[in-house]
Amino acid sequence: MRNPLQNAAAGNTLKSPGATPGSAGYTPGSAGETPGSAGRAAASLAELVTYRTVSSRAVAGVETDQFEAFIAALPRLYPAVHAALELERVNGHALLYRWPGSALAEDPAAAQRASVLMAHYDVVPAGDPGQWTQAPFSGHNDGTFLWGRGTLDDKGQLVAILEAAESLLRAGHAPAHDLYFSFGNNEETAGNSAAAAADLLAGRGVLPWLVLDEGGAVAGGAFPGVSRPAAVVGVAEKGILDVELLTRDQGGHASTPPRMGATARLARAITRIERSPFPQSLPEVTAEMLRRFCPHTPPPLRTVFANVALLRAPITWLFGRLGNETNAMTRTTVAITTLEGSSGANVLAATAKANANIRVAVGETVEGTVARLRKIIRDPKVELRVVEGNGPSPVSPNSAQWELLADCIGQVFPEAIITPYIMMGGTDSRRFTGICGTVYRFAPFFMDVRARGSIHAVDEKISLETLDRGVRFYETLMREL
Ligand SMILES: [Zn+2]
Repeated sequence: MRNPLQNAAAGNTLKSPGATPGSAGYTPGSAGETPGSAGRAAASLAELVTYRTVSSRAVAGVETDQFEAFIAALPRLYPAVHAALELERVNGHALLYRWPGSALAEDPAAAQRASVLMAHYDVVPAGDPGQWTQAPFSGHNDGTFLWGRGTLDDKGQLVAILEAAESLLRAGHAPAHDLYFSFGNNEETAGNSAAAAADLLAGRGVLPWLVLDEGGAVAGGAFPGVSRPAAVVGVAEKGILDVELLTRDQGGHASTPPRMGATARLARAITRIERSPFPQSLPEVTAEMLRRFCPHTPPPLRTVFANVALLRAPITWLFGRLGNETNAMTRTTVAITTLEGSSGANVLAATAKANANIRVAVGETVEGTVARLRKIIRDPKVELRVVEGNGPSPVSPNSAQWELLADCIGQVFPEAIITPYIMMGGTDSRRFTGICGTVYRFAPFFMDVRARGSIHAVDEKISLETLDRGVRFYETLMREL
């Protein structure tokens, strides 16, 4: 996951969700939680944070024993879950649980009412441990916060799911339909475990009714001027595409350089990309988000948001200039991330290379994006090669599933404005869009600006109250499913 509201953005029509935001204030820890389960969730998360399940693209960089230790701890922490659910390992270290539904025996069609709750337990590196207030893999509990890498992204979500299932099982609850938990081990490196899990389900004829993964959150200070927290639920994510730009020349001694050598040609191409941003548009999902923020914004903004249909063109223009986040909501973006030229200070480059990391706007394609890039560069001597990537996800529609989610969010976070949005970053759930048309991205955790800033940074931590509400959200959802 990335910072959920840096991710906020845009693409289709999601009208009035089931739950209208209630008028209650933000009341931490009110709605009837059991302190026992809250304490258990915190203790489990504290332990699970201590396993250094750091993702790395270099196989040698992965501490496999830490992933094994994490997996080995789960049956001890969640005995009821491990007694009642089937568990299989996918692609090595990913986990797929199946909680058999009670309705299945009588109704074979019920297989199509299965739901998948997702999370991942790999984490990004902690950086310099000296910069952290509490050691990044300590799981230190100071009575208010639980500290450490992965508490928000995304071990906290995994714990909230398992904790909810554990308490429901102890209370004798059984789901009517199959419920799957799919826990990834390589989300942070865009690995293939989630795809393997989706393939496995597809091979068994399971086409989930609902898929819920990380992505959005209950965000405080989500949008300038919006007074309430916003429960932003990702209904789509932009595509991620790496394109290599390559130029060639004779090379040779730097004392007699040619005109427009490999590096100069590459630089010209990069400058052209910088000067010609992709075209803008305001996706319908973003317009819908503004409409939902409208009643909670101060008058000048309120008037603008209320008339988003009329003011679409100027709002889109404004978004392009307000800041990097709002700009990214309205277009495909290109960042030149790596550069490579000659290896010697006095040697002309025989080849020069750059990597363009491209975030493809919803509604566009990889092919169309590469074609436009070619047009912008307008130099046949610059070779383009797609290194890897995928187009944007489809947009999950307004649906019974959306209504259900909104209803559960409303029950646990009555103060929040519930809105769809388009994520800038990627999640494992994009691998499930081939087998499910209703994929949503939301972690049931309140995150203020600071909490969102700590994801992938130093001092990541989750408040105990936030974790507890997350457990309650999943209990609510599992009952409603
Ligand atoms: Zn994540």
